[in-house]
Amino acid sequence: MLERISKFFKTDKNSNSAGAYVYGPSEHCLSPDMINRDAYNVVDVLQKAGFEAYVVGGCVRDLLLGLKPKDFDVATSAKPSEVKALFRRSRIIGRRFQIVHVQFSREIIEVTTFRSNEKQSGSKSSNKNQRQQTDSGMLTRDNVFGSVEEDASRRDLTVNALYYDPSDNSIHDFTNGLDDIDDRIIRIIGDPSTRFREDPVRLLRVARFAAKLGFDIEARTAKPMKHRAGDLQQVSPPRLFDETLKLFMSGNGLDTFKLLLDHKLFEHIVPQLNPMLNDKQGEPVKLVRQALVNTDKRIRNKQRVTPAFIYAALLWPVVQRLSSNYEKNGNSPPYALSKAAGDIIAAQIPVTAIPKRFTIPMREIWDLQLHMKRRGGNRAKRLAEHPRFRAAYDFILLREQAGEDLKGLGDWWTKYQDANEDQRQSMAEEILSNDKRPKRRRRRRNSPKPDNSSSPKPENG
Ligand code: ATP
Ligand code: MG
Repeated sequence: MLERISKFFKTDKNSNSAGAYVYGPSEHCLSPDMINRDAYNVVDVLQKAGFEAYVVGGCVRDLLLGLKPKDFDVATSAKPSEVKALFRRSRIIGRRFQIVHVQFSREIIEVTTFRSNEKQSGSKSSNKNQRQQTDSGMLTRDNVFGSVEEDASRRDLTVNALYYDPSDNSIHDFTNGLDDIDDRIIRIIGDPSTRFREDPVRLLRVARFAAKLGFDIEARTAKPMKHRAGDLQQVSPPRLFDETLKLFMSGNGLDTFKLLLDHKLFEHIVPQLNPMLNDKQGEPVKLVRQALVNTDKRIRNKQRVTPAFIYAALLWPVVQRLSSNYEKNGNSPPYALSKAAGDIIAAQIPVTAIPKRFTIPMREIWDLQLHMKRRGGNRAKRLAEHPRFRAAYDFILLREQAGEDLKGLGDWWTKYQDANEDQRQSMAEEILSNDKRPKRRRRRRNSPKPDNSSSPKPENG
């Protein structure tokens, strides 16, 4: 496939009036039938109404590389209101960045109006409400419309700025994106530092696409990344949470994690873990790495993955450490764990706003790490019926894979699940009779010893 790309792309470039290289049908490997029908129709309707319209972004990139596109985006000269008027089932969404969602029976096609970079087109006062930047240069609103060429220059990466016109099967390239696909390079468009300052999420996108595509990051793009990494703190916690899911749940989590560490980005995603990251061979790094290996594998096998499991793994080393401190202060293990879990989640939420629907199962997975050790008698049966049992069992295996010695706990539960009813009962009884601990009177309450620690902070939702 790449040979084919090389052959076509190194020759016969035609420039059009907008300053793009236009690659004709014989110069690339795309064809209109590769384009999703709904996206094709959207482009067709817009063009017939007299607007410019292209299929753009990741889908063009992925098709050129022989990958299956996640979604098909359309870019057009039509304003959001003009797009909306052309499609009955459509609505304008977003404030910071207005786009139109056109609803089809199978999916939604996102239609974006060409954006302009205000600095290049002069500071028009009418643009004031449309494009807003913080003092540090971060874009908080970007609704100044412009030409297709301007639109290309405000996209993030050259490989993401290719415009495909299915009507004549041509690719319009303003930033040498095809050459970069051919050379397997991730290159940010424009001045790297400025572009990262405008939107620090681009730092994460560089790492994500380099990992996904197996491309090298251009040296000029990579240079300011470490320096700008701290800007990630300005990204809103809900947006940063969404972006972390794309980093870790797209099937290339391990490679992405390595790049995040190399470019000092990871430390702004789970800051609480930083003191434990220095030891690259240490258990915390091994655990995160192994969690991502397992997640990548599950995605390859089309198995379900949940953000709760990933975040449970990312935060487990710090939960464990804090919990053991609370135990040393005389708290019972369940109370110490619950208090540590509450504290650690509360401290993570201002960074990546993990929704409550994930923090609840995270806490259950952690709690079960304790409960699943005590499995004698009737406990094993009850535990195996817990809705979070499977995730907690996988988590035990993960901890063992990462090098923790849990005294054969994972194996025991594996055997238990494979056993029949009678075998299960005798396994559980054996645990009970092996439990040689001297009988102690049960503590009535799991209340903490009076120390000075505060009660767990509430989670937000
Ligand atoms: P995929 O959908 O496979 O994750 P994609 O490249 O399509 O990859 P999207 O997030 O769907 O990524 O964005 C669509 C396009 O919008 C990108 O290809 C890029 O051109 C542009 N884009 C997205 N996010 C940014 C950003 N933060 N800054 C500049 N341009 C962006
Ligand atoms: Mg996309």
